Amino acid sequence: MRRRTFIRNIALASGMMAVAPMAACSGNEEDYDFPLMDLHVHLAEDLTIDDIMEISRATNIQFGIVENPGEMVYDDESLRAYIEMLRPYPVYIGLQPMSPGWTANFSPEAIAELDYVLMDPQTVPNGNNFGETLRIWNVDTYVDDTEYFMEAYMDRYLEVINNNEPLTTLGWPLFLPACIARDYYKLWTKERMETIITAVKNRDLNIEINDLAHTPHEEFILMAKEEGIKFTFGSDTADNKAGRLSYCKEIARKCKLTRKDFFVPDRVLPA
Ligand SMILES: [Zn+2]
Repeated sequence: MRRRTFIRNIALASGMMAVAPMAACSGNEEDYDFPLMDLHVHLAEDLTIDDIMEISRATNIQFGIVENPGEMVYDDESLRAYIEMLRPYPVYIGLQPMSPGWTANFSPEAIAELDYVLMDPQTVPNGNNFGETLRIWNVDTYVDDTEYFMEAYMDRYLEVINNNEPLTTLGWPLFLPACIARDYYKLWTKERMETIITAVKNRDLNIEINDLAHTPHEEFILMAKEEGIKFTFGSDTADNKAGRLSYCKEIARKCKLTRKDFFVPDRVLPA
């Protein structure tokens, strides 16, 4: 479906919901014990801030926008321009750095203007594969030695989590490359999960429930919840699928997550 059609449809749907009895409503915040927030959305040519506002009005989802440092945001001036561009809108403003060392290009004062920093361990140095760095979101990511990869991947988690730079949320937790994903429950041993959770807790981070990857699973969420760790929802979208949170909502209900289990940035947003 094209974007304009989609937006027209959801606008129609939300107009219809306004006159329907409450029990028939779905997608409204009243249906959930947790906040409907999507803190992992990227602006793109096909997804402007005005498009996001339109989706937000139609769905009652609160959005947080993230930008990967690099092309658009690369120094203090461009970071401040990005923040100023979004400030008039009722959205949270975040950054999603790809690798430790990212703060070298920014001052602590400029970084402090952000609502949150989201980072994931998806670039994995994999010595076995001729020293290449795996970008494990790519569907053709090849793992020749699974145990070797898991060791390197665990190292990457700890490097990202323990890195001495501002960080709020661990993104894409427990995601696996497609070629080994069928062994998810075997590879994510209790010990590995405990290692990640302990590190996250020690640094007082939140954990993203990633809608695109359908990770992490119930057991991990319950273990983290038990430790008092808070969660966020992230669709990781850059088009009209922004706010698609089917997996997030389902697993949050299963795990009986409530408002107090969620991280909400503390800035008061403009109306
Ligand atoms: Zn992202």
